[in-house]
Amino acid sequence: MPAATFVLPASLALQLLSGAAPAAKPATAPAATVKAVSPAYSQAVAEKLIGPALTEGHAYARLAELTDGIGPRLSGSAGAEAAVQWALRGFKADGVKGWTEPVKVPRWVRGEERGEVLASERTRGHPLSLIALGGSAPTAPDGLTAEVVEVDSLEALAALGDSVKGKIVFFNHTMSVPADYGRFAGLRGRGPAAAAKAGAAGALVRSLATASLRTPHTGSTRFEAGGPRIPAAAVSTEDADLLHRMLARGPVRVKVVLGCSELPEVESHNVVAEVRGREKPQEIVLISAHLDSWDVGTGAHDDGAGVAMVMEAARLIAKLPQAPRRTVRVVLFMNEEHGLHGARAYAEAHAAELSRHVAAMEMDSGGFRPIGINLRAGAGGQELVRPWLPPLVALGAGTFHEREAGGADLTPMIPARVPFFGVQVDVTRYFDYHHTMADTLDKVDPQDLARSTAAVAWMTYAMAEMPGTLARPEAPATPPGPPALVPQSKASGQ
Ligand SMILES: [Zn+2]
Repeated sequence: MPAATFVLPASLALQLLSGAAPAAKPATAPAATVKAVSPAYSQAVAEKLIGPALTEGHAYARLAELTDGIGPRLSGSAGAEAAVQWALRGFKADGVKGWTEPVKVPRWVRGEERGEVLASERTRGHPLSLIALGGSAPTAPDGLTAEVVEVDSLEALAALGDSVKGKIVFFNHTMSVPADYGRFAGLRGRGPAAAAKAGAAGALVRSLATASLRTPHTGSTRFEAGGPRIPAAAVSTEDADLLHRMLARGPVRVKVVLGCSELPEVESHNVVAEVRGREKPQEIVLISAHLDSWDVGTGAHDDGAGVAMVMEAARLIAKLPQAPRRTVRVVLFMNEEHGLHGARAYAEAHAAELSRHVAAMEMDSGGFRPIGINLRAGAGGQELVRPWLPPLVALGAGTFHEREAGGADLTPMIPARVPFFGVQVDVTRYFDYHHTMADTLDKVDPQDLARSTAAVAWMTYAMAEMPGTLARPEAPATPPGPPALVPQSKASGQ
């Protein structure tokens, strides 16, 4: 596609750049003044990374290949394996050395799914817009019919004791802004298992969404190994409101049919690639995203955009006349969405060198415009990074964002005290599309993606080139628990 038509014209990109650059030094300036404004970095390198990211449309073209060309990529599926091969081909074409590393992943497969509110003496019936949660058990072939009981928290469920036995527990909540995701994601992740333990026959969860055109949002739910498993689905926010209104007037019975199945684990792969450092190749700056997606939509924002950004950053850095001081390693994790298997496999396989991971980033909040830089490091991090921020000013990302850097796939590196950095994007619209059929390429603005890609490329280079490295953050007081159902980066709204 003529991607260049979507992005900033080269002249504007360069204007933006020169506007963002440290003041050019006049030829006649006294030596002391020259020294005072001399930037920490090479302006020429900044232009070589940011200019093409803004003007060439390469990241967007690559995202189109992944979303329109490969499509959905749920772990264990043929689409996920096609994505692995696609990424390898892409790195090869870019002149970036790439390879795969093995990961065992679950294979959950969606089947038929439908539901309805049954007619009663008070009302006629209604179809329900629903979608099975990843990890859900199937219903019997002819479906599950039961009375609905509504709760708004795990505590409210516990208070009902075994009165939910044989019923369908409906987890309702009040998510309205992205920051609510972390507050309510536990209802999706842990609610169905808690309902199953209390004897419920099924669970419905209000979609975790900030906008809806009656589109339900899927996501992972987790049952304890050996514990009871029940059918669990998300309903659209409109259907959640309908259930809530009807329940206020009296008992409601629904019928749900879910044909999903859990197949044996399969072998899959993380895709890893490297641009070797020129002075300290043993020191690693890791940039990452997750290659898998949910099985509905094409994972354009989640997380095709992140994949496109970090692949493009590596391509542009590999094209520089001189490699940065440290090694830039790209990791495209497999199965962030349904258990963080790729993240754990990477941290285990590379445990011996995590002490040499001097910085790590995961881009996994959509392909939106950049609004700042995040860090998670020991003392002095901002002071170290600040001199490298001027090229980001014109991109809208030249300041530190208050949110701590992180990413679900980075959590297994926390005990090794790996410092994290990130480009914060504007997540206002992320949860309109997240985990839905609507997460498709048309939702990604090419200019926003180009700007975030430019910021990722520059920040990656900065971390790999700056003379010093970030101090390592304190070890957490309590080690991270089992793989987060609420990814760390998403807990506060990403
Ligand atoms: Zn994601």
